[in-house]
Amino acid sequence: MKTVVERFLEYVKFDTQSDENSQTFPSTEKQIDFAKVLKKEMEQIGIKAELDEYGYLMGALEKNIDEGTPTIGFIAHMDTTPEVSGKNVQAQIIKNYDGNDIVLNSEGNIVLKSSEYPHLKNYIGKDLIVTNGTTVLGADDKAGIAEIMTAAEYLINHQEIKHGRIKIAFTPDEEIGRGVDKFDVVKFGAKYAYTLDGDELGSLEFENFNAASAQIIIKGKNIHPGQAKGVMKNAVKIGSEFINLLPQNQTPEVTEGYEGFFHIYQEIGSVEEVIQKYIIRDHDRARFENKKEFFKSCVEFINKKYGAGTVELLLKDTYYNMKEIIEKNFETIEIAKKSMIQAGVSPIIKPIRGGTDGARLSFMGLPTPNIFTGGHNFHGIYEYIPAFAMEKAVEVIINIVKEFSKIKVE
Ligand SMILES: [Zn+2]
Repeated sequence: MKTVVERFLEYVKFDTQSDENSQTFPSTEKQIDFAKVLKKEMEQIGIKAELDEYGYLMGALEKNIDEGTPTIGFIAHMDTTPEVSGKNVQAQIIKNYDGNDIVLNSEGNIVLKSSEYPHLKNYIGKDLIVTNGTTVLGADDKAGIAEIMTAAEYLINHQEIKHGRIKIAFTPDEEIGRGVDKFDVVKFGAKYAYTLDGDELGSLEFENFNAASAQIIIKGKNIHPGQAKGVMKNAVKIGSEFINLLPQNQTPEVTEGYEGFFHIYQEIGSVEEVIQKYIIRDHDRARFENKKEFFKSCVEFINKKYGAGTVELLLKDTYYNMKEIIEKNFETIEIAKKSMIQAGVSPIIKPIRGGTDGARLSFMGLPTPNIFTGGHNFHGIYEYIPAFAMEKAVEVIINIVKEFSKIKVE
């Protein structure tokens, strides 16, 4: 049997970066190449696997008890973030970490500083896997894949552990928000699932933002500035007026925890026309709806002031807080908590200030909370993961399987 660390070190060698500018599904062919390798490995360890044209790799471990135990699923994503290169990843293992700064790259003077990343202190005496300072590590989410694969192999080799049907899915394009666009929930056939896509050891997440995207198009009127009096309508100035109508204490820079926000992330244009792009976020559904209403009222205000049709609004919900669904399936959380405690891990329950694939899956009929992979500093060159945290994740998966085998539903 391969260890979870051995697997992980093999997987990070594959460049599986997704590309938000691509129109294909999956967005990059190299994700399919990786999926093919994983499929072969699944078959070698005795998992029936199927890879579809979109790059979804699904596998099944058949049940070895006859009781009506629910089918449960474990999901991780294959792609890495488009923001930072994931090509030619040179993972390094820091044995028996001493608590000091870690020089990732002496030539480039790239240092992982314990003063900047205080959680490093939690791992003194442990083995850490780090980058060489030029790429991501790819623990997000290849650690999740390695953990699920290792747990699956363990279960296959330990038939004395009785369990219901277990499904596995490795998915493409999570990082560009398309991870479940073509996910076939019915075919997957699980009653509950977990994504292994969280960060630090113990994290357990089932609350995420409600999310909307808004685009406004501001129509100005341009004329030679020398003859502009009483005629010109400057879209740039109207644009900044619009920004200032929004509450300045509700932006990403000044909010945390359960505080929602309005966030302008792009503006393009000139006097004639300006396009502004926003995202709107709140954990609370009612407050989320209020935020959208308020945004609309700002559009109305500008249109009243500068004339109908000055601002055009495109407002669209993107995802919702999975808490709504998970609360009705709270056994998923109780079991995850219990499974962590059995493995000697303290559960850390915190709201996600973002979304997960599990959020969308939950609303597609598959309640899917998120559990830790063990990694830190995702999406950057300072990404790292302690080896023992990955081993704990494997243990937690196995414990979850054992706990579900005590439940009868069907
Ligand atoms: Zn991820």
